[in-house]
Amino acid sequence: MSRNWNTESLRELDRAHSWHPFTQMRDWCAGEPLVLVEGDGAIVRDSDGREYLDGNSSIWTNIHGHRHPAITRAIREQLDRVAHVSFLGTTNAPASELASRLAGLFPPGALPRVFFSDDGSTAIEAAMKMAARFWELGGCPQRSRFVAFDHAYHGDTAGAASLGGIDAFHAGHRFPVDRISDPNGLDRLATDEIAAVVIEPLIQGAAGMRVWPAGMLRRLREKCDATGALLILDEVLTGFGRTGRMFACEHEDVIPDFLCLAKGLTGGYLPLAATLTTEKIFAAFLGEFSGQKTFYYGHSFTGNPLGCAAALACLDVFRDENVLENLQPKIAEMGRLLDGLRDISGVFEIRQCGFMAGIEIRRPDGTPLPWQERTGGRICEAARAHGLLTRPVLDTLVLMPPLCTTAGQLERAVGALRRAILETVPASRSQPPP
Ligand SMILES: *Cc1c(COP(=O)(O)O)cnc(C)c1O
Repeated sequence: MSRNWNTESLRELDRAHSWHPFTQMRDWCAGEPLVLVEGDGAIVRDSDGREYLDGNSSIWTNIHGHRHPAITRAIREQLDRVAHVSFLGTTNAPASELASRLAGLFPPGALPRVFFSDDGSTAIEAAMKMAARFWELGGCPQRSRFVAFDHAYHGDTAGAASLGGIDAFHAGHRFPVDRISDPNGLDRLATDEIAAVVIEPLIQGAAGMRVWPAGMLRRLREKCDATGALLILDEVLTGFGRTGRMFACEHEDVIPDFLCLAKGLTGGYLPLAATLTTEKIFAAFLGEFSGQKTFYYGHSFTGNPLGCAAALACLDVFRDENVLENLQPKIAEMGRLLDGLRDISGVFEIRQCGFMAGIEIRRPDGTPLPWQERTGGRICEAARAHGLLTRPVLDTLVLMPPLCTTAGQLERAVGALRRAILETVPASRSQPPP
């Protein structure tokens, strides 16, 4: 399997031609980028043969580990049939089967319609366009505003980015969006102008793993019902077991009007997204061709057979390997191990939701470190030397490895974080418990 890689020449090519996302390229080009060449379960390997735990699931995508035989086989078998055919004007076997399997993960009739797209951002865009058009078609064109939460992140395309509440990411492209910090915020808005409310249920990832209070999602659903606003759940991060249930909305028995899935949908192997919705929304778009109710939206790779085959295999693995059941003790173990970091004076807060955690680093007196110092980034760089690969959100260290991560791997990952924090933050020495 291994071959000899010329790390230096790969780095040279990258520095000469690549432009990386969310990256200050001047720093990047002055550095020594890590070249990843292989993966195996929760482990990724670099071009020099060093191994790392994939501590953020390859930017929150990987679910069952790398090179899982069932997912690899499903993609290969589909590749031997056809890689891509159009979903405009034809259908294909994996996509139609996947739509039915996804709808079947919810109570009968709850979210029976599945619209495919390419990534989390387009899944959100599709939901926004469907919601706004639903109200236009229903004779309520004044319902055109969207409501999103403080610190929200819903993707980077213009429509999705207009929902975002993180200034550094979202300055520059803004659609009219009202921003609230909790469901009661709806009370001060003109609710008959709201098309839909959008939320990352249970936990806001890009905001730094901020966990919502229990019961909040339920209250939001009730508020939406009371005001007539549609509810869009962005489960791009939380879907597929990350929270300990298949979907975050299950924790509070909430059925949204739209549910957006991407990242983990294919097990993290290929880009594919889905926007699920109700029969009520779907039916509003039915009519005579000349009535112009058609949903005019879509992408070239919609319903891509390779991605859909991977997604079907990913769902099979959940079933065949009892993934959610086996995850429960590992969630508890993650909590126990992270508790062990609380004696480090720089560890300000540990926030966990299912198999995802954020460890926020601050000064020992609790004040935030200057963001320009990139403390979180430097800690994660130090963690590499101890075999852990992850990426922070500012000074919040993210730990969310694939669901297949073993208890032993978790223990090593938290050990790597401990060492990296102690090495990087001089004042963070561990203190005996009081
Ligand atoms: C990553 C993410 C998105 C955007 O998904 P992309 O595939 O990167 O476009 C949207 N919402 C949430 C909650 C995310 O974490």
